[in-house]
Amino acid sequence: MPRTVEPRVVAVPDATAAPQTDLSAYTTLRLGGPAGILTVATETDQVVDTVRNSAGKVLILAGGSNVVIGDKGFDGTVLLLRTRGVRVVEEHESSVVVRVAAGEPWDDFVAYAVERGFSGVECLSGIPGSAGATPIQNVGAYGQEVAHTIVAVHAYDRETGAIRVMPAAECGFAYRASVFKHNDRYVVLEVDFRLARSSESAPIRYAELARNLGVEVGDRVPLQLARDTVRKLREQKGMVLDPDDRDTWSVGSFFTNPVVSAAEWAALGLDAPHWPGDDGTVKIPAAWLIEHAGFAKGFAGDGVAISSKHTLALINRGPGTTEALLGLARTVRDGVRAKFGVELHPEPVLINCAL
Ligand SMILES: Cc1cc2nc3c(=O)[nH]c(=O)nc-3n(C[C@H](O)[C@H](O)[C@H](O)COP(=O)(O)OP(=O)(O)OC[C@H]3O[C@@H](n4cnc5c(N)ncnc54)[C@H](O)[C@@H]3O)c2cc1C
Repeated sequence: MPRTVEPRVVAVPDATAAPQTDLSAYTTLRLGGPAGILTVATETDQVVDTVRNSAGKVLILAGGSNVVIGDKGFDGTVLLLRTRGVRVVEEHESSVVVRVAAGEPWDDFVAYAVERGFSGVECLSGIPGSAGATPIQNVGAYGQEVAHTIVAVHAYDRETGAIRVMPAAECGFAYRASVFKHNDRYVVLEVDFRLARSSESAPIRYAELARNLGVEVGDRVPLQLARDTVRKLREQKGMVLDPDDRDTWSVGSFFTNPVVSAAEWAALGLDAPHWPGDDGTVKIPAAWLIEHAGFAKGFAGDGVAISSKHTLALINRGPGTTEALLGLARTVRDGVRAKFGVELHPEPVLINCAL
């Protein structure tokens, strides 16, 4: 039955009261300079109208948890996307399709699904940001990614001026990538997820999670247990936002895990953990490369550092700047390249700045 969830601001900063034009108020790094024009959209029509009618460039900003904005800010229009709403649009015997507004805080949606016995996103618990941003980089963690459950993305196409319903096959989902990433063409308005009706999780695919649950990879566990265990693991790594813990003032993983061909992997001759892909490629944990290139947790720059809880998270421990953060990122990237000849690539979207 269709149902609307009351909005609760969790990971998406409140912007409805007295918006500030300093973008650092809206990013989890607490970095980013001034906005030219700042506007808040709480209705989907407002999002479309703002983008359609703006003469200059428009930056969509939702939870601000996957962006690095330059210290000079953004001199166009910044649209803070704050639409809300979750409703079941299809009901089947063994599954439902749930339509989620782009601005809905992602973790609220996961909590909603777990409470109602809708299975398929429980291992993505605790990830900050908005539901509408999850297709952008095919958000993933602990063996699940949104590509497993998204059936369609409703998007405003800036090129044609029309709203399109894009089936998952058109979204180009790949590891931390999709047609939407590094591409201004589409504004995601709503996302449809197909979730199984089950009180149990999807099969647990991630060995560390299975170990912590005391089950084998491939087993299922109660939904709430999966959610609680994932959140606990994430908290230990500083991967759940906590305003009082500067180790969480990050964009999550700053670098993606490098993916190399089987031949490149063999040539590297590394005694490192790795994950072979179905297509013959090999994924190498960026955290292992960083640590073995000599950068330990807590390695610090000027007001910025590698988190003391997670090697992949670069944090603003205060009072950092974007330039200092990028300086630290360059040092790490160049150190890994010099030691292993492997290139690290940033996971967040860089706006008015470069690595
Ligand atoms: C502590 C922490 C842990 C994290 N853990 C994970 C993790 O486990 N896995 C993972 O994949 N990610 C993780 N992330 C990254 C981040 O939370 C996700 O990528 C999230 O989906 C970003 O959502 P957002 O609303 O904050 O996006 P924003 O940062 O606001 O935007 C990110 C990019 O998407 C664009 N965008 C946002 N919304 C829309 C829209 N509706 N239409 C078009 N473009 C849009 C923006 O313009 C920008 O380019 C983590 C981040 C933090 C801070």
